[in-house]
Amino acid sequence: MAEPRHITIVGAGLAGALLATLLAQRGWSVDVYEKRGDPRVQGYAGGRSINLALAERGRHALRMAGGDDEVMAHAVMMRGRMVHFLDGRTDLQRYGKDDSEVIWSVHRGELNLSLLDIAEKAGARLHFHRGLASVDFGHHNAVFRDDRDGSLHDVAFGSLVGADGAGSALRAAMMRERDLGERTEFLGHSYKELEIPPGTDGGFSIEANALHIWPRGRYMCIALPNDEQTFTVTLFLPNEGDPSFATVTNGAQARALFERDFADAVPLIPDLERDFEQNPTGLLATLYLDTWHIDDRAVLLGDAAHAMVPFHGQGMNCAFEDCVALADQLERHADRAAAFAAFQQDRLPNARAIQQMALENYLEMRDRVDDDDYLLQRALERELAQRHPDRFVPRYAMVTFRRLPYATAFERGQLQRRLLVELTRGHVSLDTLDWDAVDAAVREQLPPLEADA
Ligand SMILES: Cc1cc2nc3c(=O)[nH]c(=O)nc-3n(C[C@H](O)[C@H](O)[C@H](O)COP(=O)(O)OP(=O)(O)OC[C@H]3O[C@@H](n4cnc5c(N)ncnc54)[C@H](O)[C@@H]3O)c2cc1C
Repeated sequence: MAEPRHITIVGAGLAGALLATLLAQRGWSVDVYEKRGDPRVQGYAGGRSINLALAERGRHALRMAGGDDEVMAHAVMMRGRMVHFLDGRTDLQRYGKDDSEVIWSVHRGELNLSLLDIAEKAGARLHFHRGLASVDFGHHNAVFRDDRDGSLHDVAFGSLVGADGAGSALRAAMMRERDLGERTEFLGHSYKELEIPPGTDGGFSIEANALHIWPRGRYMCIALPNDEQTFTVTLFLPNEGDPSFATVTNGAQARALFERDFADAVPLIPDLERDFEQNPTGLLATLYLDTWHIDDRAVLLGDAAHAMVPFHGQGMNCAFEDCVALADQLERHADRAAAFAAFQQDRLPNARAIQQMALENYLEMRDRVDDDDYLLQRALERELAQRHPDRFVPRYAMVTFRRLPYATAFERGQLQRRLLVELTRGHVSLDTLDWDAVDAAVREQLPPLEADA
């Protein structure tokens, strides 16, 4: 039997620290075990994606934990996508209707530090240099390894929560106990990060309040602003073909690719060769599981349960939403197994939906943002969103600015996309549309959307 209101969390990354806060604030006794050292003491050793897009779902969870103000103090607003065409022209495509519908670039390291602070203030006990090594589910005993001296430490647990990321050691231990139906689908594309430093005046060297995109068909670059006036550039390339990470393998080849395809970015990235050669190449994959928990003994959330490709900027946002959902279920059910089952039932279909939308968004970002049909559909989408704000909410907005279930956003998004394609077929501008018929089609096919709870 799990000790009432005590929980053991594996991983003090983004989800682990937030869940610890939410539970500790509700009076739970919480122990968190983290493989790495305390980043507040030894500096943040991230190793991947320096900044992240924070959206409404994530902000809502931060508000629940009382951490939104602190995080937002360092966040940079991104109003839309700044598309950089091959000929050097740029075009800002707004994400929402105005500045109330924007996303925010936050530094992964700073965010993690803030979350660790609020978790500790809320009363959670954080144990660093404790990497989960093995679990004996029969005896409710977990073994953690200290990376500094290799020593092993036994920890008795009632329930373990796996917030230990895409390579989750808890998931691996659970798989030895029970088949979770794990499948990993690699995208066949990887990424590399580069840096745009501040300009000569010390300020941002390109528009600060945008997510910059250089779409080039099978591949692309993006850049997100950091509050120290830099940008983190991410180059996404296929693993095979030309160009790919198989043909672009060193700094000189990276420069040649940039000079040909991302020419306006070249003067902005002075250390292109060095960044390309020194920074690791990150793999991209989607992780599917059919089961997220083993009765009352273990449950997974965040990337450990459903890692996704980063093209909707929702992995962390979804992980934060998981934390709120799990904390709620743990409050609702005295029976821990029932809480974990209810959590899985609620979140698994939604995780699947955002995983799918994230995959689709890659195609949209790299290949469609400069395509004429797409731009006409987007123009109609904006018009319909104004004419029918309660019925036609663009899918991007449902995912990013609202908190309705991802699965609902996915289903309505499919319906809306079909409508946009049908209504713009044979037209090159919105001027020739029959607006009475358009409005009637919207009213007939899209019931009003409920407000967020
Ligand atoms: C290139 C890229 C860009 C992204 N951009 C965005 C974005 O813009 N917006 C967004 O919302 N999401 C984004 N994401 C996704 C986001 O990074 C993840 O969804 C998020 O970090 C998941 O949080 P987590 O806490 O589940 O896992 P993690 O953040 O990976 O945290 C896991 C923690 O567990 C610890 N750990 C690992 N193994 C063990 C062990 N054995 N024992 C104990 N501790 C362990 C780790 O050290 C770490 O602290 C991006 C991801 C990538 C790769």
